[in-house]
Amino acid sequence: MNIRQIFKNYYPALLVFFCLTAFTLYSYSEITNATKARREKLFEQRVARATDVLKRRITDYTQILRGCQALFYASDSVTADNWEKYVANLNVSDNYAGIQAIAYAAYIKKNEVPEVEARIKKSGYPDFKIVSDFRNDHLTPIIFIEPFRGRNLRAFGFDMYSESIRKETMGRALETGKPAMSKKVTLVQETTEDIQPGFLLYLPVYRSPETTRTTEDRKKNIIGFVYTPFRGYDLMEAILKSFSDIHIEIYDGNKPSEKSLLFNSDSILHRPSTKGELVSDTSIYMAGAQWKIVVSSTEMFGSNIEKRQPDLVLILGLAITFLMVVIAVNNIKNRSRVVEELQLSKEVEKKKDEFIGIASHELKTPLTSIKAYIQLLERSDLKETERTFVRKAIAQIKKLNSLIADLLDVSKIQAGSLRLQIDTFLLSELISESIETVNHIYANHQIVLEPEIPNVVMKGDKFRLEQALNNLLNNAIKYSPGSRTVFIKGKQIDDHVTIEVKDEGIGISRENQALIFQKYHRAEGLSPTLSGLGMGLYISNEIVKRHQGKISVTSEPGKGSIFTIYIPIHPDFDKAGFNA
Ligand code: ADP
Repeated sequence: MNIRQIFKNYYPALLVFFCLTAFTLYSYSEITNATKARREKLFEQRVARATDVLKRRITDYTQILRGCQALFYASDSVTADNWEKYVANLNVSDNYAGIQAIAYAAYIKKNEVPEVEARIKKSGYPDFKIVSDFRNDHLTPIIFIEPFRGRNLRAFGFDMYSESIRKETMGRALETGKPAMSKKVTLVQETTEDIQPGFLLYLPVYRSPETTRTTEDRKKNIIGFVYTPFRGYDLMEAILKSFSDIHIEIYDGNKPSEKSLLFNSDSILHRPSTKGELVSDTSIYMAGAQWKIVVSSTEMFGSNIEKRQPDLVLILGLAITFLMVVIAVNNIKNRSRVVEELQLSKEVEKKKDEFIGIASHELKTPLTSIKAYIQLLERSDLKETERTFVRKAIAQIKKLNSLIADLLDVSKIQAGSLRLQIDTFLLSELISESIETVNHIYANHQIVLEPEIPNVVMKGDKFRLEQALNNLLNNAIKYSPGSRTVFIKGKQIDDHVTIEVKDEGIGISRENQALIFQKYHRAEGLSPTLSGLGMGLYISNEIVKRHQGKISVTSEPGKGSIFTIYIPIHPDFDKAGFNA
């Protein structure tokens, strides 16, 4: 089979394939787009939420520092003891996880160092020492730090002005009077292990809040800074722990680099760096600092079902396509098998008809000779018994002859070669001659003719119409074993005539009435004495049809049948299909 033939035979299956595949791909792309749009929206919301949480936390910390600042404004002097109690009361570790410490650095002149050291030592810290390079005129040593333990002890006494980033941030806080966030630093609290990026949030403390209107006022009245140092990873882990479905990197400033990295959620969550397909890059500004936040989705982002939806649609669609194509191919194969079988049975039927035609033809010739010899024999000098046998033989030969004639007619009808001899004749002639012929065969039966057959001159093949009528009369007698009378009626109705043959015989069931005009059809359950081959009605019907007429039947089983021939008086034999 070449491509052309495949296409010709299987185009419905190909059509199913192309339509369903196109529909599947279309649905796949639509669902992919919709899913992508939903995921993007969800991602945007997650990023906004994470950023919001981060900002709120920093605002919370600023508020804590404002509380610390207020402590100074509320009392004449704040002692280490006050500080410890105040901070302990904040319960930072429970409420504000991620804060490394809350501390206070005093703003002092270089020449005040010995006095400050002495004062702190006296207050219960004999080892206190200000750690500084003493390059600046002013120092900002950390004098209160809570919780006062562990890493935080390393920061106690450290002069933050001796380090440039801290000094710059504190200077900014001092001059503006507002919270100031430092750039990335390494906290002095860091040991050699688990070093994390850090940053600090400062709030200046002035002599009194009323004396801070101008920058000059603020510079004159600054007494120190409350501040909180943060270890980047500890802080962000506390804030962002509920965002495990997104990967977050926070950079100090606006240029992401290894150096400016404040936080990378991968190191916290101990999962491999999985950059998803969704990425967002935003900057936030807090307390004078700019942070760049780069977020990307992880494999855990979004619902799994939703992620798989397009693939499911694709797989399902292709599976249905495959199934439908298989069904279509099967149907086509079945159909072509049925067509082939039909063709084959038609061919067998044709061959059978051809065989019947040839066989009947071949039988006819020897039968004619036999008949001639027997007739000669009949004329010779025979004894009475011999003559009886010869007559019986002639009767049987006549039967055989008519059987062969029927077979030949069937094959002629099949081949479309049954020719009519058109002439004019009287309806009364047709009917009376037919009665005569049948009476000849069935001498013991009576054919009752309704009187007054109209004197209609008809046109058609009288011989063939008589053959049809003979057959109806023969059947009427043959299928009425219990009755000896058959009725025949001829009528003219406008331009038509009807010939009605009525018997009081076995009748025909409704199902059989629809089938008896078919070739070789006989009603089931007929008595074996009622011989026949089911050709008579088929031939009769074809003859009448060739005269543009029809034969109808009404019957009731057990009561009898009425066969009616209905033909135009002058059929139009020139009409297509009715040529003589
Ligand atoms: P055949 O008589 O040789 O069987 P026909 O074609 O003449 O063939 O008739 C077909 C079938 O119609 C018969 O076998 C019979 O069953 C039924 N039939 C025809 N005429 C009559 C009738 N007058 N009464 C009952 N059955 C009939």
